[in-house]
Amino acid sequence: MGTYWELALDILLPRACAHCREDLSRASGPLCRECACALPPPPEPACVRCAGRREGAAPFCAACAGRRFSCRLIRAAAAHRGPAASLVHAFKFRGSKPAARAAGRAMAAALSLRPELAGFDALVAVPIHPRRERERGYNQAEILAREVAAATGLPLLDALARRRASAPSWRLGRVERRAELEGAYAVRAEAAAHVAGKRVLLIDDVAATGTTFEECASALRGAGAADAAGYAFARAGYAT
Ligand SMILES: [Zn+2]
Ligand SMILES: [Zn+2]
Repeated sequence: MGTYWELALDILLPRACAHCREDLSRASGPLCRECACALPPPPEPACVRCAGRREGAAPFCAACAGRRFSCRLIRAAAAHRGPAASLVHAFKFRGSKPAARAAGRAMAAALSLRPELAGFDALVAVPIHPRRERERGYNQAEILAREVAAATGLPLLDALARRRASAPSWRLGRVERRAELEGAYAVRAEAAAHVAGKRVLLIDDVAATGTTFEECASALRGAGAADAAGYAFARAGYAT
Protein backbone atom coordinates (compact mmCIF):
# COMPACT_ATOMS: atom_id res chain seq x y z
CA MET A 1 0.00 0.00 0.00
CA GLY A 2 1.35 3.44 -0.91
CA THR A 3 0.87 6.47 1.30
CA TYR A 4 -1.71 9.11 0.43
CA TRP A 5 0.98 11.29 -1.16
CA GLU A 6 2.41 8.43 -3.21
CA LEU A 7 -1.07 7.70 -4.53
CA ALA A 8 -1.69 11.40 -5.22
CA LEU A 9 1.60 11.69 -7.09
CA ASP A 10 0.81 8.59 -9.10
CA ILE A 11 -2.38 10.25 -10.29
CA LEU A 12 -0.82 13.67 -10.93
CA LEU A 13 2.41 12.67 -12.60
CA PRO A 14 2.89 10.42 -15.60
CA ARG A 15 4.96 7.47 -14.42
CA ALA A 16 7.97 6.16 -16.26
CA CYS A 17 10.16 3.10 -15.82
CA ALA A 18 13.00 4.00 -13.40
CA HIS A 19 15.49 2.57 -15.90
CA CYS A 20 14.37 3.00 -19.52
CA ARG A 21 11.74 5.77 -18.96
CA GLU A 22 9.08 3.77 -20.80
CA ASP A 23 5.56 4.85 -19.78
CA LEU A 24 4.03 2.75 -17.00
CA SER A 25 0.43 2.17 -16.08
CA ARG A 26 -0.44 2.93 -12.44
CA ALA A 27 -0.71 -0.76 -11.66
CA SER A 28 2.94 -1.54 -12.44
CA GLY A 29 5.98 -1.35 -10.17
CA PRO A 30 8.80 1.17 -10.62
CA LEU A 31 10.31 -0.78 -13.53
CA CYS A 32 8.65 -1.80 -16.78
CA ARG A 33 8.15 -5.52 -17.24
CA GLU A 34 11.18 -5.84 -19.51
CA CYS A 35 13.58 -4.10 -17.11
CA ALA A 36 12.15 -5.93 -14.08
CA CYS A 37 12.95 -9.22 -15.81
CA ALA A 38 16.46 -8.04 -16.73
CA LEU A 39 18.04 -7.45 -13.31
CA PRO A 40 21.68 -8.41 -13.99
CA PRO A 41 22.87 -11.33 -11.84
CA PRO A 42 26.16 -10.99 -9.95
CA PRO A 43 28.87 -12.14 -12.39
CA GLU A 44 30.64 -15.47 -12.15
CA PRO A 45 33.15 -16.63 -11.12
CA ALA A 46 32.71 -14.95 -7.76
CA CYS A 47 34.59 -15.19 -4.46
CA VAL A 48 32.86 -17.85 -2.34
CA ARG A 49 32.91 -15.52 0.68
CA CYS A 50 32.10 -12.01 -0.58
CA ALA A 51 30.64 -12.68 -4.07
CA GLY A 52 33.15 -10.16 -5.43
CA ARG A 53 35.22 -10.69 -8.53
CA ARG A 54 37.96 -13.29 -8.30
CA GLU A 55 40.68 -14.35 -10.68
CA GLY A 56 41.62 -17.83 -11.78
CA ALA A 57 40.75 -21.05 -10.01
CA ALA A 58 41.21 -19.96 -6.36
CA PRO A 59 37.88 -19.91 -4.46
CA PHE A 60 38.55 -16.56 -2.72
CA CYS A 61 39.25 -13.05 -4.04
CA ALA A 62 42.50 -11.35 -3.07
CA ALA A 63 40.78 -9.37 -0.29
CA CYS A 64 39.23 -12.47 1.37
CA ALA A 65 42.00 -15.06 0.92
CA GLY A 66 43.63 -16.03 4.21
CA ARG A 67 41.52 -13.67 6.34
CA ARG A 68 38.87 -14.29 8.97
CA PHE A 69 35.68 -12.25 9.05
CA SER A 70 32.83 -11.59 11.47
CA CYS A 71 30.57 -11.52 8.41
CA ARG A 72 31.00 -15.10 7.19
CA LEU A 73 29.32 -14.66 3.82
CA ILE A 74 28.14 -11.87 1.51
CA ARG A 75 25.62 -12.40 -1.27
CA ALA A 76 23.57 -10.10 -3.49
CA ALA A 77 20.43 -10.43 -5.58
CA ALA A 78 21.89 -8.49 -8.52
CA ALA A 79 24.94 -6.73 -9.90
CA HIS A 80 24.90 -2.96 -9.40
CA ARG A 81 24.35 -1.95 -13.02
CA GLY A 82 21.53 -1.63 -15.55
CA PRO A 83 17.99 -1.73 -14.11
CA ALA A 84 19.35 -2.76 -10.66
CA ALA A 85 21.45 0.43 -10.45
CA SER A 86 18.44 2.48 -11.59
CA LEU A 87 16.29 0.99 -8.81
CA VAL A 88 18.98 1.82 -6.24
CA HIS A 89 19.19 5.38 -7.58
CA ALA A 90 15.40 5.74 -7.37
CA PHE A 91 15.14 4.71 -3.71
CA LYS A 92 18.39 6.30 -2.57
CA PHE A 93 18.32 9.67 -4.29
CA ARG A 94 14.76 10.18 -5.57
CA GLY A 95 12.81 9.16 -2.49
CA SER A 96 11.00 6.26 -4.16
CA LYS A 97 9.74 3.80 -1.56
CA PRO A 98 8.06 1.68 -4.27
CA ALA A 99 11.52 1.19 -5.81
CA ALA A 100 12.84 -0.05 -2.45
CA ARG A 101 9.88 -2.42 -2.07
CA ALA A 102 10.47 -3.78 -5.58
CA ALA A 103 14.15 -4.33 -4.78
CA GLY A 104 13.18 -6.10 -1.55
CA ARG A 105 10.82 -8.40 -3.43
CA ALA A 106 13.60 -9.19 -5.91
CA MET A 107 15.87 -10.07 -2.96
CA ALA A 108 13.21 -12.37 -1.52
CA ALA A 109 12.72 -14.05 -4.90
CA ALA A 110 16.48 -14.55 -5.38
CA LEU A 111 16.86 -16.23 -1.98
CA SER A 112 15.83 -19.60 -3.40
CA LEU A 113 18.88 -19.42 -5.73
CA ARG A 114 21.19 -18.93 -2.73
CA PRO A 115 20.77 -21.97 -0.47
CA GLU A 116 23.77 -20.83 1.59
CA LEU A 117 21.52 -18.04 2.95
CA ALA A 118 19.07 -20.57 4.43
CA GLY A 119 19.15 -21.47 8.12
CA PHE A 120 19.29 -17.98 9.61
CA ASP A 121 17.14 -17.12 12.65
CA ALA A 122 16.58 -13.41 12.17
CA LEU A 123 17.08 -10.43 9.86
CA VAL A 124 18.74 -7.14 10.81
CA ALA A 125 18.67 -4.08 8.53
CA VAL A 126 21.89 -2.07 8.31
CA PRO A 127 21.02 1.27 9.96
CA ILE A 128 21.74 4.68 8.49
CA HIS A 129 22.46 7.73 10.60
CA PRO A 130 19.25 9.25 12.08
CA ARG A 131 19.94 12.57 10.35
CA ARG A 132 20.15 10.90 6.94
CA GLU A 133 17.01 8.87 7.71
CA ARG A 134 15.17 12.13 8.51
CA GLU A 135 16.36 13.72 5.26
CA ARG A 136 15.33 10.73 3.13
CA GLY A 137 12.23 9.91 5.15
CA TYR A 138 13.13 6.23 5.52
CA ASN A 139 15.96 3.74 5.87
CA GLN A 140 15.97 1.90 2.55
CA ALA A 141 17.63 -1.19 4.08
CA GLU A 142 14.70 -1.49 6.49
CA ILE A 143 12.19 -1.45 3.60
CA LEU A 144 14.22 -4.18 1.85
CA ALA A 145 14.41 -6.21 5.06
CA ARG A 146 10.64 -5.92 5.62
CA GLU A 147 10.02 -7.45 2.19
CA VAL A 148 12.45 -10.30 2.88
CA ALA A 149 10.86 -10.82 6.31
CA ALA A 150 7.38 -10.95 4.79
CA ALA A 151 8.47 -13.56 2.23
CA THR A 152 10.48 -15.77 4.60
CA GLY A 153 8.61 -15.37 7.90
CA LEU A 154 11.91 -14.50 9.61
CA PRO A 155 11.68 -11.90 12.40
CA LEU A 156 13.20 -8.49 11.66
CA LEU A 157 15.16 -7.30 14.71
CA ASP A 158 15.77 -3.59 15.31
CA ALA A 159 19.15 -4.52 16.74
CA LEU A 160 21.73 -2.02 15.47
CA ALA A 161 22.25 1.71 15.90
CA ARG A 162 24.45 3.97 13.83
CA ARG A 163 26.68 5.97 16.14
CA ARG A 164 27.94 8.62 13.76
CA ALA A 165 27.52 9.81 10.21
CA SER A 166 30.07 9.06 7.53
CA ALA A 167 30.68 10.38 4.05
CA PRO A 168 27.77 9.23 1.87
CA SER A 169 30.04 7.63 -0.70
CA TRP A 170 30.43 3.86 -0.85
CA ARG A 171 33.05 4.46 -3.51
CA LEU A 172 35.81 4.96 -0.95
CA GLY A 173 38.59 2.40 -1.00
CA ARG A 174 38.51 -0.54 1.39
CA VAL A 175 41.13 0.87 3.78
CA GLU A 176 39.60 4.38 3.95
CA ARG A 177 36.16 2.89 4.37
CA ARG A 178 37.33 0.61 7.14
CA ALA A 179 38.92 3.47 9.12
CA GLU A 180 35.81 5.57 8.69
CA LEU A 181 33.39 2.89 9.86
CA GLU A 182 35.44 1.55 12.78
CA GLY A 183 33.04 1.43 15.72
CA ALA A 184 30.27 3.15 13.74
CA TYR A 185 27.64 0.50 14.61
CA ALA A 186 26.50 -0.72 18.01
CA VAL A 187 23.95 -3.27 19.21
CA ARG A 188 21.08 -1.52 21.00
CA ALA A 189 21.14 -2.36 24.70
CA GLU A 190 17.49 -3.50 24.62
CA ALA A 191 18.19 -5.81 21.64
CA ALA A 192 21.25 -7.60 23.03
CA ALA A 193 19.18 -10.41 24.58
CA HIS A 194 17.46 -11.08 21.23
CA VAL A 195 20.76 -11.25 19.35
CA ALA A 196 22.63 -13.60 21.68
CA GLY A 197 22.94 -17.10 20.20
CA LYS A 198 21.16 -16.12 16.95
CA ARG A 199 22.27 -16.64 13.35
CA VAL A 200 21.70 -13.20 11.89
CA LEU A 201 21.31 -12.24 8.23
CA LEU A 202 22.14 -8.56 7.68
CA ILE A 203 20.26 -6.72 4.92
CA ASP A 204 21.58 -3.70 2.99
CA ASP A 205 20.98 -2.01 -0.34
CA VAL A 206 24.46 -2.04 -1.90
CA ALA A 207 27.58 -4.01 -0.98
CA ALA A 208 30.83 -2.69 -2.44
CA THR A 209 33.86 -3.42 -0.26
CA GLY A 210 31.85 -5.43 2.29
CA THR A 211 33.12 -3.16 5.07
CA THR A 212 29.67 -2.07 6.29
CA PHE A 213 28.55 -5.70 6.63
CA GLU A 214 31.80 -6.54 8.43
CA GLU A 215 31.43 -3.69 10.94
CA CYS A 216 27.77 -4.58 11.63
CA ALA A 217 28.60 -8.28 11.94
CA SER A 218 31.43 -7.49 14.30
CA ALA A 219 29.03 -5.57 16.59
CA LEU A 220 26.51 -8.44 16.46
CA ARG A 221 29.13 -11.12 17.14
CA GLY A 222 30.40 -8.96 20.02
CA ALA A 223 26.87 -9.16 21.48
CA GLY A 224 26.91 -12.97 21.21
CA ALA A 225 25.37 -13.64 17.78
CA ALA A 226 26.25 -17.20 16.73
CA ASP A 227 26.68 -16.36 13.04
CA ALA A 228 26.39 -13.35 10.74
CA ALA A 229 26.14 -12.98 6.98
CA GLY A 230 25.20 -10.13 4.66
CA TYR A 231 22.61 -10.04 1.89
CA ALA A 232 22.52 -6.94 -0.34
CA PHE A 233 20.21 -6.02 -3.17
CA ALA A 234 23.11 -5.06 -5.43
CA ARG A 235 26.79 -6.00 -5.50
CA ALA A 236 29.01 -3.13 -6.66
CA GLY A 237 32.74 -3.04 -7.11
CA TYR A 238 33.02 -5.18 -10.23
CA ALA A 239 35.01 -3.93 -13.14
CA THR A 240 32.47 -3.80 -15.95
ZN1 LIG B 1 12.14 -0.21 -18.43
ZN1 LIG C 1 36.04 -12.09 -1.48
